[in-house]
Amino acid sequence: MVDELLRTAHDRYEGHDEGAVADYIPALARANPEWFGLSLVGVTGTVHEVGDAEVAFTIQSISKAFVFALACAAVGHERVHERVGVNNTGLAFNSVVAVELNGGSPMNPMVNAGAIATTALLPGADAAERWAHLQDGLSRFAGRSLEIDDEVYLSESETNHRNRAIAQLLQSYNRLDGDPAETVDVYTRQCSLSVTAHDLAVMGATLADGGVNPLTGEQVVSAEVCRDTLSVLASCGLYERSGEWLFEIGLPAKSGVSGGMVAISPGKGAVGAFSPLLDGAGNSVRAQRACAYLSRALGLNLFASARWSASQNGAA
Ligand code: GLN
Repeated sequence: MVDELLRTAHDRYEGHDEGAVADYIPALARANPEWFGLSLVGVTGTVHEVGDAEVAFTIQSISKAFVFALACAAVGHERVHERVGVNNTGLAFNSVVAVELNGGSPMNPMVNAGAIATTALLPGADAAERWAHLQDGLSRFAGRSLEIDDEVYLSESETNHRNRAIAQLLQSYNRLDGDPAETVDVYTRQCSLSVTAHDLAVMGATLADGGVNPLTGEQVVSAEVCRDTLSVLASCGLYERSGEWLFEIGLPAKSGVSGGMVAISPGKGAVGAFSPLLDGAGNSVRAQRACAYLSRALGLNLFASARWSASQNGAA
């Protein structure tokens, strides 16, 4: 049945061609707008996929979810809350003004300012150690060794003036320890890790499974860290469209500008989706529609409400 639903979602939306491929990072503009892959991984380890589920793309903003989890694991709930914040800014992912409006607090760990501040919290004596911790942690989530796409990394490194400005602004408010340029470099590397829709589904399913990767059996983070991460994904995962997403779909999720998306059903599993055409906020159009379809078809909305007595079926 799940294979059939994935196939239906793919058939329904593959012809949808609204949106545009991101081109502010020059290397991303080369993405094929036709690519469309879906993968669903259950907490029991079941895997279902359709379309371009094995095409590689850079993880981009979706890394923010998993680096947030690593930071929560390393420095704890309180420190992340106080240093980064856990509220949606209601502004674009690369907003500078959001930092100014909030007295220097990045507020939202799922946009660039908050993610840069989160990356700076990772343990390590220097940037190289922080990067090693990050790459190792995200690889454990995926259950395989994740590597950088050098072309995208270099392309973003040459053009990320805005992220460097954001990091310096955070430093001016004492929100960033260490060298801002080095932290932006680690952040740019994390965004350049190469993944597939299948990897995203495995990573999401690990968050759904109390922190245990359902394919490798490894405990990557604690169940408490998963809870904290999923709550932030619910309020902040789709940038300024997060409220609409939650209202329509009712699942924690995270998207990125290369067209990837992961939607998580706690205790059940996750969908990884990939298609490069983006809406105005930077969320993949086809990925959102496919996740919405699957969430409805599989009854995954976390806020679905039903009368208690209706479930008793006259048993009393
Ligand atoms: N690396 C990208 C950036 O910092 C990630 C943004 C995104 O996926 N929204 O601009």
